[in-house]
Amino acid sequence: MPSPGIVLGDVEITRVIEWSGPIRTARFIIPDSDEETWRRNEDWLAPDFWTPADDAYRRHIQTWVLRSEGRTILVDTGVGNGRDRPQVPQFAHLRTDFPARLRAAGVAPEDVDVVVNTHIHYDHVGWNTEWRDGRWVPAFPNATYLVPRADHRYFDPANPGRTRPPRDDHERVRWEGSRLVFEDSIAPVERAGQLVLWEDSHRIDGNLLLEAAPGHTPGSSVLTLRSGTDRAVFVGDMLHSPVQVLVPEWNSCFCDDLRLAARTRRAHLARAADQRELVVPAHWPGHGAAEVRREGDGFAIGTWAGFPRP
Ligand SMILES: [Zn+2]
Repeated sequence: MPSPGIVLGDVEITRVIEWSGPIRTARFIIPDSDEETWRRNEDWLAPDFWTPADDAYRRHIQTWVLRSEGRTILVDTGVGNGRDRPQVPQFAHLRTDFPARLRAAGVAPEDVDVVVNTHIHYDHVGWNTEWRDGRWVPAFPNATYLVPRADHRYFDPANPGRTRPPRDDHERVRWEGSRLVFEDSIAPVERAGQLVLWEDSHRIDGNLLLEAAPGHTPGSSVLTLRSGTDRAVFVGDMLHSPVQVLVPEWNSCFCDDLRLAARTRRAHLARAADQRELVVPAHWPGHGAAEVRREGDGFAIGTWAGFPRP
């Protein structure tokens, strides 16, 4: 049965979940957040986003499927199967039936016209490729893959910034991990001539615009939807948890440039509140997305999206 989606203007949005579960603790993932805020908001953070008993942070890894102007667009492509991921052993060598779930949502690989990677982290580019005939090849043979140039430059193993020796063991494992991600999920798409690098902004069609939103990574981006009077913004990893809506300065432990990430988050929440954009992060479980409103110094959840809680 196709997963139920929502319609904004002329665009249909469906989510396809690759993985769902707990990782680490809430305050490991959002290190600046305080226990009091989690507790005070427990009635809506639990059980979808947080398990109070063990402080577990709960996340989805999911792909947003958009149908716009007769084309099929995927926003972020999860972890992928069978990957060496020394930096995240929990997600190494996954074996999910994600392609079957995509088909159940009405999407065959050859139907995909555009793949958007909001940024180049392992959990956003994995199903860019699949293992076939002894090598990684693009999983979507007819798609154009839109990748932010700043991330391509930053994560390219040939980047001069990465040719110095790593500072410590932690950095060594992280660099090795990001090299593998680049080599199995980005380079094969580039070799196939399906990669398009963009910077500043990139218009996909009359409804959809990619915009740079750096901080989480140098090339992190948002996909803005405008159709009729309806508006949405797919923010990738700008918001790992809805507590970051309450205090936009709370970064995730995965954010690269902390000051820039916080500034970008606040600016986008302000725009979303003022323009009534539906905010659609990459990893939120539960209803998956929400409208936000201004409250005090920060923001608050307004209305949850119509995606059913899985
Ligand atoms: Zn992510």
